[in-house]
Amino acid sequence: MSRIQRNFVAGAWWEGAGVMENRNPSDLDDLIGLYAIASPEDVADACAAAAEAQRAWAVAGPQVRADLLHRIARGIAKRETEVATMLAREEGKILAEAIAETRRAAQVFRFYAGEALRVAGDAIASVRQGIDIEVVREPLGVVGLITPWNFPIAIPAWKVAPALAYGNSVVLKPAELTPGTARLLARIIADAGCPVGVFNLVMGPGTSVGAALVDDPHVKALSFTGSVPTGRRIAQSAAAGMKRVQLEMGGKNPMVIMEDADLEVAVSASLNGSFFSTGQRCTASSRLIVHASIHDAFVDELSRQVAALKVGHALAPDSQIGPVVSAEQLASNLAYVDLAAAEGCEVRGGERLALSTQGFFQRPALFLGARSEMRVCQEEIFGPCASVIKVSDFDEALHVANDTAFGLSAGICTRSLRYAREFRRRVQSGMVMVNVPTAGVDYHVPFGGSKGSSFGPREQGRAAAEFYTSSKTSYVFAG
Ligand code: NDP
Repeated sequence: MSRIQRNFVAGAWWEGAGVMENRNPSDLDDLIGLYAIASPEDVADACAAAAEAQRAWAVAGPQVRADLLHRIARGIAKRETEVATMLAREEGKILAEAIAETRRAAQVFRFYAGEALRVAGDAIASVRQGIDIEVVREPLGVVGLITPWNFPIAIPAWKVAPALAYGNSVVLKPAELTPGTARLLARIIADAGCPVGVFNLVMGPGTSVGAALVDDPHVKALSFTGSVPTGRRIAQSAAAGMKRVQLEMGGKNPMVIMEDADLEVAVSASLNGSFFSTGQRCTASSRLIVHASIHDAFVDELSRQVAALKVGHALAPDSQIGPVVSAEQLASNLAYVDLAAAEGCEVRGGERLALSTQGFFQRPALFLGARSEMRVCQEEIFGPCASVIKVSDFDEALHVANDTAFGLSAGICTRSLRYAREFRRRVQSGMVMVNVPTAGVDYHVPFGGSKGSSFGPREQGRAAAEFYTSSKTSYVFAG
């Protein structure tokens, strides 16, 4: 039996109050490890240690913070194979995607190492004679970070790095399904010489460990990525405690294919956006909105390429699509496949696959002949399933694209400058993609959505300073 992987609290590795199993969704016989579940007291101790440590960290100065973030980036790069293999094993992402995500995490830490040196303020003339005004950014204190399973190294990185860069201390609660990658990140941060208490890791279920973090009085701000119901619950608790909150939630992202699209570009962007990472991306193109005049050619070619995708073990070199993350997620996906048929779609693919290892494998699915009002076009499935909706012109395409409670990422494939321009202006989403997949973003620019997808300031890039700092305005009369 493997050693229990422990929580990281106040600079030490703590046992916890229970143990959870981490199993490989590509092969259920592969027990990755046993992970300690933090008790409510562990969470309270982590938050208290973070509050204590933050006072010194806040005044440590930009060079100290930048140096730490660079060392963390180097640590991730050095242990890239180990981190990526863990990621592929516990989340089910194919190894190439896991390596890319691990590299992204290192890039994020490097970016915020630079940002730590660039924390700037404003000097503004007063409306009163003889007074100078200075506006500076200050850290918030202890920040609670709650992350999902689908990007188990990138999302913690893009929350932890800015939190530390701007002088906050951190308590991270990763998803129960993917504690291994987060624990490796904690090990890398500890090995990088992070001061005691500045970074803490508490593992375990959201309903106990996550809820204790949300309610802890030391926590001044909460950054959450996950589902809408959990986000709503966290926002309510945060409001009761007067805490700052940032929520990144679901998507039902449209990819519009206009009649003048380059077919090869459109099929490639849709294949990538809808199915890569097993469709388990908040930015996945789950609605393909296709002009009638290109519809049949597009569907024929996309169907051919979808059917040719190799579904397999995440660590097998020829796999293109890994397993679904869990039994619950697979059951939910299969129920949506049945629902699509019941709602009148022609379903291509979508069935569970039996492979040589016992895992949660599912063939990617296309729901043809879908209509916008169907549940499969309105609810986030979060699996390898995409609906195809036929439209007759640009206005209808735009209307359907906006016919959703979400607004994270929206794409259009077209060669028309006019369509691209109108779409960028009128689509209701935080990110717009022209001739590129809805999923896949840069790390140095704002990330986030509109409508039900996001709440609070944007993540990533320089925009992160909005959430992780508070402004202070000083008035000075020199006499
Ligand atoms: P969940 O909302 O279930 O979980 C997200 C995190 O919240 C997990 O760490 C979870 O812990 C924790 N959590 C659950 N309940 C509570 C609670 N009551 N209090 C505090 N924390 C809690 O989402 P999933 O992990 O299932 O992720 C999939 C969802 O995330 C999808 O809906 C997807 O759209 C969304 N997502 C959005 C992204 C975005 O940037 N917009 C990016 C990635 C995913 P645990 O799992 O351990 O119980």
